[in-house]
Amino acid sequence: MSNKVYFADLRSRSNLENKGNKIVNLFDKAGFKELFTPEDLVAVKVHFGERGNDSYVSPVMIRYLVDKIKENGAKMFVTDTNTLYYGSRHNAVSHLETAILNGFDYSVVGAPLIIADGLTSENEEIVEINQKHFKKVKIAGDLAKSTSMVVVSHFKGHGLSGFGGALKNLAMGCATIAGKLDQHKCAKPIIKDNCNGCAICFDSCPTDAIIMKSVDNGLIASIEYGSCVACMNCMDSCENEAIDVDWKNDIPLFVERMMEYAYGALNGKENKIAYFNFLVNITPDCDCVPWSDAPMVPDIGILASNDPVAIDTASYDLVNSQKGFKNSLLDKNFKKGEDKFKGVWDGVDGTKQLEYAEKMGMGTREYELIRL
Ligand code: SF4
Ligand code: SF4
Repeated sequence: MSNKVYFADLRSRSNLENKGNKIVNLFDKAGFKELFTPEDLVAVKVHFGERGNDSYVSPVMIRYLVDKIKENGAKMFVTDTNTLYYGSRHNAVSHLETAILNGFDYSVVGAPLIIADGLTSENEEIVEINQKHFKKVKIAGDLAKSTSMVVVSHFKGHGLSGFGGALKNLAMGCATIAGKLDQHKCAKPIIKDNCNGCAICFDSCPTDAIIMKSVDNGLIASIEYGSCVACMNCMDSCENEAIDVDWKNDIPLFVERMMEYAYGALNGKENKIAYFNFLVNITPDCDCVPWSDAPMVPDIGILASNDPVAIDTASYDLVNSQKGFKNSLLDKNFKKGEDKFKGVWDGVDGTKQLEYAEKMGMGTREYELIRL
């Protein structure tokens, strides 16, 4: 059986067709009004964007959603969780400062900002899931306690999971730092033979897990796996592409572990979640990187659904149906129908997310696209 995914393109010739009104129409058409009651505490799960990134979903768009939820009298907060890597959102203080710098503030979004896992990610709720990789998962306390959610995702590429959308927003986005580490730790970095000993990775490692070893002709990097937290800062920092992961064995496991966390984030509110995917600024990387690379395809539109698998499948198909941009990270798969995510991250198959999430019963890859 298919599930409905509502789609608004980005063409506008009047105020009735501006993006805000498109969001309001999607909300109404998808029947989300029925999801929220005055008793609800609704978590509007966004990505506040790393400092230096500007491709996250604009707080101005979030305001339209907040105002719609308010119509039903529900109380809500706009939220995200602290990051595993040591960037500008690793604790609640720097995270809120970054959020405000990126335009998220009560005066803009119309609701309080809360970092759902607390000051240093100590606010955690253990959720029992009894799946293949995890019996229990570590979900941010305030997300676990919320009675319903609106999951707002910027759909884009991701170096380790192919793409990031609603499912990844639930998985990594709703986990505490310890939960993020649980998902990541099966995929540790490997130093390759072309390491030139420049030590850039050494400086990037938050846990001092990289040591520079003397060899006959200079230095090479080496990793102490006991202290590595698999944050992948080193891989991102190496300009020589000398750090890799085991794409064949570790990455499929990582993707499955992520989906089990997504399953845990839904716990108790499976029928009380609205999903919005924004197919704009479709960059090759996620919004955790402190830059925004040129998009791989043109802006497409906004999707809404109550099924995270269906909305991510539809988003994936819509991106791949576009012609790729030559002035982007894409170096192949430019034609319509070719996989743009594999065009930049060849080692990972993003469809594995969809397949595994469907297998766990989180939704269906069969969807009916309803154009507004
Ligand atoms: S940044 Fe890359 S090339 Fe430089 S030491 Fe680290 S692994 Fe080697
Ligand atoms: S070695 Fe790399 S992946 Fe491991 S903790 Fe250091 S920066 Fe992160």
